[in-house]
Formats: sequence, C-alpha cells, structure tokens
Amino acid sequence: MNLKDLGESRLKELLVSWKQPAFRAKQVKEWLYGRFAVSYDEMTNLPGALKEQLATEARAFSLTTRERLTDPDDGTVKWLSELEDGNTIETVLIRVPGRTTVCISTQVGCPVRCVFCASGRNGLVRNLTKGEIIDQVILACREVGDRVDNIVVMGMGEPLLNLESLRDALDGIAGEDTLGFGARHITISTSGIVPGIRQLAELERSWNLALSLHAVNDEMRGQIIPPANRYPLEEIFQACEYHRQLTGRMLTLEYALIDGKNDSRETLEELSEIAHRLRAKVNLIPCNPNSSRLTAPTLRRCYEAVDFLVARGVQATLRHSHGQGILAACGQLRQAKG
Ligand code: SAH
Ligand code: SF4
Repeated sequence: MNLKDLGESRLKELLVSWKQPAFRAKQVKEWLYGRFAVSYDEMTNLPGALKEQLATEARAFSLTTRERLTDPDDGTVKWLSELEDGNTIETVLIRVPGRTTVCISTQVGCPVRCVFCASGRNGLVRNLTKGEIIDQVILACREVGDRVDNIVVMGMGEPLLNLESLRDALDGIAGEDTLGFGARHITISTSGIVPGIRQLAELERSWNLALSLHAVNDEMRGQIIPPANRYPLEEIFQACEYHRQLTGRMLTLEYALIDGKNDSRETLEELSEIAHRLRAKVNLIPCNPNSSRLTAPTLRRCYEAVDFLVARGVQATLRHSHGQGILAACGQLRQAKG
C-alpha cells in the first residue's frame, strides 16, 4: 500500500495509534507533498523508529522508474514506471517557456481500444489507485523542483472509467496542506463515456473537460472507436452541455487529423458547427502513426485545417507533438518495452 492511498483521517489515526504526537501527520504530509519525498529516509525530522514502523505499514511512493527519457529538442521527460505489482505506466512532463504540464495515466492499458492508440492495444489490465495517480504528479514536481503548473489527464487509460480514484487523487492534491492544486489547472480528457461525463458534472468541480471527438458523425467515429465503449454522439453532446451547465467550465474538442478519413472540407465544416453548438474550442492533433496504418495529413494541410476553422469563428489550435523522439504519445513507450 501507498501512504497516499490513506486519507487525512486514516493517516492521523494510524500515527496516534502508534502514540505519536499530533504534529507528526503534518510533518509526514509536508514531506510527501511539499518536498516530494519518495522514501522515508528523506524525512530527516522523523524519529528512526517511526520511519521503520511506517515502512512496514506502507510505502511512501508507489513508482519505480524503469526508463527515464528526455527529448533533447524540447526538454520533454517521459517515464516508464513500474508499479508494485510489476505493471508499467507512463507519465510525461511537457515544458514550454514559463509553464510545466504533467500528463498522467489513470489505468494500466485501456478498455476502449481506439484503433490508433497504443494504450488500448491489449485492452485493460487494471485501474490505478488514488496513490498511483498522485505519485505521477509528485514525480513530475520532483523533476521540476516545484509544483507543476498544469495537469492533463491524457496519458494511458480512460479517466472516466476510473472516476472514483481520479476524484480522490485530484481532491487529495487540492488541499492547502497537500499541493494546493487549483482545479482550473486540471484537464480531464475522455473518449466520450456518457455516464462518466454526467457523474463528473455532478461532482461540480472546476476541472476542464476535453472530449476526444475525432469524427463528426457516428459512422465515421465507428472506424476509430470500437462499439463496446462507444456512445452515440448526440448523447455525448448532451452530457457535455450538462457538464458545462453544472460546472461553467469550457469544453475542448480533441480531433486527431487522419489523412483521407476526417480531414475533408465538408467534415471540417461540420466540425465547426459542432464546436459552435457546444461552445467549444478545438485542438487538432496530427495523428501519430504508431503501429496503425492511419497517418496524419501533411503539416501544411494541418495548418490549413486550423485556418479553415478559425475563419469560421472557431477557436482552434494545432497541438505540437512534444517528445516525438522519445515515443511520448500515449502508450507508445510501454508498448515498445513490452
Ligand atoms: N482516454 C482518454 C485520454 C487519454 S488519450 C481519451 O481518449 O481522451 C489522450 C488523447 O490522445 C486523446 O485525445 C486520444 O484520442 C489521443 N491519441 C491517442 N492516440 C493517438 C494517436 N496515435 N495520434 C493522435 N492522437 C492520439
Ligand atoms: Fe483509451 Fe484514450 Fe487510447 Fe482510446 S485514445 S484507447 S480511450 S487511452
């Protein structure tokens, strides 16, 4: 077990039951969240006996780095981390001048199995725990030497199929006694799990929502997302509107541009209509070839697609692929390393 799986009250109870003074819980939390400690050895102001007792009950950190790759061109860092049960997950730190963003995973594998995505290739292995999700944020903070600015839940897995652990993790780092992480700096990306979007809305947190749309109708979408976990677009759109009503947060549509599949003028025209209806901005992503046969249009055509949307009054951007040289796209590194 990871110490970060314990809530505030259980940590206090544990330490009190060991006859520790009340301030110890605060000290431990300060090490875990304020100084990004990954071992009890680092916690120099705790008595040795307490450190030993803690070590027999729970780990301070759940991740062991198996690979750590840095992209010399843009400073992206990507970790392949081993969990206590031997499974591996990926976490990416993206740096642009003045801003640091960590991209975190929520599942080992993914049950949705989109055709272009390395994470879903072998289906779902298991959900991550609250502590395993938090530890990815801590890993990035430790690298930066400070709290990262943003969190995007866009790594391996479908976050809304592990919403309880994700909620606990994000709430766990929100408190001033932990990371004090502001909800508005967190974006959750979903492939469109309707019950999950509605549950998320009802939590009424100020997290941003991103929908991986990729297509403008159900038939086109069916070529990318297999039926088992795919919901009708109209239901997804209504759930997104419900989310906006309850949270007031803006929606982003993520759209992987695939050459010859979803990048025609007519399709982009429909995309602009959807964006207007949902009052959403659009993030175009050149499809990363991975091992699927789907490829992106030329970069010039990608920029033309952005211009096309902008000319129709849509706030659209092209997402630069960070860490190309280190297989930073979701699930690629884990796939390559088996
Ligand atoms: N499961 C969630 C979040 C993780 S995927 C979701 O699907 O939204 C994060 C983003 O990367 C999604 O928009 C996903 O569609 C996109 N993605 C995955 N594989 C890709 C690829 N090969 N090329 C471009 N985008 C990809
Ligand atoms: Fe899962 Fe997202 Fe990959 Fe689809 S794109 S398989 S939902 S991680």
